[in-house]
Amino acid sequence: MILILKTGATDEQIAHVIARVKDLGMQAHPSRGTYRTIIGIIGDETKLREEPLRAIPGVEEVVPVLPPYKLASLEAHPDPSVIDVSGVKVGGGNLAMIAGPCSVEDEDRMYRIAEQVRAAGANIFRGGAFKPRTSPYAFQGLGVAGLKLLREVGDRYGMPVVTEVTDVRCVDVVAEYADMIQIGARNMQNFVLLTEVGRTQRPVLLKRGMSATVTDLLMSAEYVLSQGNSNVVLCERGVKGFDPATRNLFDVAAVPLVHSLSHLPIIVDPSHATGRPDLIPSCAMAGIAAGADGVHIEVHDCPEVAKSDGPQALLPAQYEELMVQLKSLAELLGKTVSPLPEAFA
Ligand code: PEP
Ligand code: MN
Repeated sequence: MILILKTGATDEQIAHVIARVKDLGMQAHPSRGTYRTIIGIIGDETKLREEPLRAIPGVEEVVPVLPPYKLASLEAHPDPSVIDVSGVKVGGGNLAMIAGPCSVEDEDRMYRIAEQVRAAGANIFRGGAFKPRTSPYAFQGLGVAGLKLLREVGDRYGMPVVTEVTDVRCVDVVAEYADMIQIGARNMQNFVLLTEVGRTQRPVLLKRGMSATVTDLLMSAEYVLSQGNSNVVLCERGVKGFDPATRNLFDVAAVPLVHSLSHLPIIVDPSHATGRPDLIPSCAMAGIAAGADGVHIEVHDCPEVAKSDGPQALLPAQYEELMVQLKSLAELLGKTVSPLPEAFA
């Protein structure tokens, strides 16, 4: 931590700042310039972070040396983390191809979509049983019945499944049926939910909040990691933009940015980022080209009757075509689309 003092800070103020730093158990190394004095603080920065140092008279600015997230940082873990989702590896050159409908729907449809996305090369099946909807009158999901159906379909096709949890009261039941728990954009900063999901030790798919900075996203990951659950995969799904032409603004730069700051894998979700099937393939390719560790895409065999997000769903045939392109790009980049687990229990 570095303290930059105000121009004209008095000797008494400087002495007081140094005394205050020593009281906190740290060493203070002042450096007096012609106009300003700066004070380097040596010691555990995490202990200092919560101290109101800027409130000490004479202090103008407090400059941290380390990022505020500790466990998520590259300093803590210089190699990329590889997250194991019931046998499907994500990160470190292994790509997750998550696909499925927005919501878990009726049984026949779920089996049909799973079979099609699996044949195209998807390695994790998705579907929301608890849906976070803007309107309380919109379809809210099938709940526990949806979780059970998703599990059955996953088992039938040997695919791990990911589904969203929206409420702390449902964390245990979601952890019971899902291989990976999704925290949606709207709950990215639901800190109680993050803590509870952290306790389960299940892999977590943490989606970026629509108004969240990359630092906010990494701080939310830190909540999960701080519970001893190191299985976090981040997801860039677009942030609020000003142009209604796309549902959100796809922040592809977040992918290499996260990789420069953290060891955690990050995948992209061009479905929610664009809301437009015609733009999804290019954005999926852009995400992988930017270094993403996977792609999350909504697929529905009859979008016009989908219970949620139908207008942004790819048809199975469109998904298949995209997967051909994604696989050749992966090969070009020396990455592997993770194979399905051999012995999926
Ligand atoms: C979803 O995955 O269906 C979803 C609701 O995503 P997000 O939280 O990114 O909006
Ligand atoms: Mn959706």
